[in-house]
Amino acid sequence: MSSRPQGIVVAVDGTSGSGKSSTSRGVADRLGLRYLDTGAMYRAMTWWMLRHGVDVHDAAAVADRCGEPRIESGLDPLGPTISVDGEDVAVAIRQPEVNAAVSPVSAVPEVRARLVAMQRAAIEEALSGVGIVVEGRDIGSTVWPDALVKVHLSADASARATRRAAEEGGSDVAATEQSLRARDAIDSGRAVSPLVVAPGAVHIDTTAYSLDEVIDRVVELVARQQVVGSDA
Ligand code: C5P
Repeated sequence: MSSRPQGIVVAVDGTSGSGKSSTSRGVADRLGLRYLDTGAMYRAMTWWMLRHGVDVHDAAAVADRCGEPRIESGLDPLGPTISVDGEDVAVAIRQPEVNAAVSPVSAVPEVRARLVAMQRAAIEEALSGVGIVVEGRDIGSTVWPDALVKVHLSADASARATRRAAEEGGSDVAATEQSLRARDAIDSGRAVSPLVVAPGAVHIDTTAYSLDEVIDRVVELVARQQVVGSDA
């Protein structure tokens, strides 16, 4: 029997800086799966709004324009890409202006409806191959509740800020922690698809673990589910 997974979805949700991206990419690489970063799609939408002078705190204005940007995600875990209207925005979407504006944009129901439809289409396509690891806030709860494995990652706010500041090239840890906490509060409190632990999700607090240990744990969960599936 082949040990390679066929047509599976692994949902990785959690707070900002909990290790979602590194874990998701590592799991996808190990298992030969595709990888979709849904946070990058919300960031790309936000970048486009800022670029076009849309007031990101005016939900009606954001809703009105959110059908316009052409957002494309490349699904290779070793080199994921993101473009808007053909422009590579991988670096631009990580800037502080986007960090500050992404949560209000993501709380607009019309934005979520459009991006969730795009995410489901990407997952459907990946399912005709080996499958995909999808990271975000609402993957196990809303985007793909039938995922084979759902994990919810968290970590202490100070640990998350230290990791994120290091990723961003040594930016101010206290300011990073404040920005992460502000985003967490909006993401957890919004009316549509708030960040919750999805039913059936395995919660992993990554504070005390190395990246490799967390990847091992998720790969193990996938293997276990595949055994259960093949017994059924
Ligand atoms: O994962 P990342 O920190 O890049 O996500 C940026 C923002 O995008 C989050 O703070 C959240 O507001 C939004 N987001 C979301 N739903 C997702 C993924 C991200 O609302 N599935």
